[in-house]
Amino acid sequence: MTDNDSAHNDSAHNGGAHNGGADDDAEAVVRYERRGPVAVVTMNRPEYRNAQNSVMTYALDDAFARAVDDPEVKVIVLAGEGKHFSAGHDISSPGRDVDVSYERKAVLWWDHVDRAGGDQRFARESEVYLGMCRRWREIPKPVIASIQGACIAGGLMLAWSCDLIVASDDAFFADPVVRMGIPGVEYFAHPWVLGVAAAKEVLFTGERFTAQQAKEWGMVSRVVPRAELESATTALAEKIAEMPSFGLTLTKKAVNQAQDLMGMRSGMDSAFGLHHFAHAHNAETQSDPLAGQTAKSMRDAGR
Ligand code: ZN
Repeated sequence: MTDNDSAHNDSAHNGGAHNGGADDDAEAVVRYERRGPVAVVTMNRPEYRNAQNSVMTYALDDAFARAVDDPEVKVIVLAGEGKHFSAGHDISSPGRDVDVSYERKAVLWWDHVDRAGGDQRFARESEVYLGMCRRWREIPKPVIASIQGACIAGGLMLAWSCDLIVASDDAFFADPVVRMGIPGVEYFAHPWVLGVAAAKEVLFTGERFTAQQAKEWGMVSRVVPRAELESATTALAEKIAEMPSFGLTLTKKAVNQAQDLMGMRSGMDSAFGLHHFAHAHNAETQSDPLAGQTAKSMRDAGR
């Protein structure tokens, strides 16, 4: 997220090939399978704990669009390959593609790549972080997150964009970005998903919380043994798939609208402004909008 002066590349449209690193491409970073009425979308960068780079973001968007368009699909599952659901946004892997252009899908805004400072950051995060999560929250079919291992920061954004969360008993969650001096991740759902006091505790301490704790706070629907995560998620998806599809769509919209009437959408807009003020403050005082933190330093500090 530093100002970037590297070469502009146009090759990465529509989730296609990209130049951000040789480690992955759009096909490989997200898998799509249909099992009866259930589409399973699986993040597939286990070597980087499914850290979310832009190629993965657009591959996820393509997979969700495919599931939305397929009339046979009634419920969507979002999963992560390997030991961990997601370590969050890609801030340090070799495939970090912050300087690559993609065709915008979430907001009508200019490309961030040739912009500088806050102009660049606001453009990029409006599209790939806040905008994409909002877009996915509005997917007109129920989406269940199936979570094992780490679900950290940007990983929470993915989980919170889904309607329901099934977690294995080894799952753990954290939003440690206050260590960067930033008031939480871009999709600031914390007070609505966790409750006010729990949101403050999670943010103030940056500490991990367990699946069981998340269930007590109302964020997680079911906690199951690790070996049963896939079958329990599938069973819930198939149960939901017995309902009429359009009825599910309208129900999802009704509940989401209620959540927005509780202030989530406008609260998020307001928090997004503070988030960008924090990035700018870091860039002004420390020459780094992430306050010098990396995935590793954040992880070490949280231990
Ligand atoms: Zn940010």
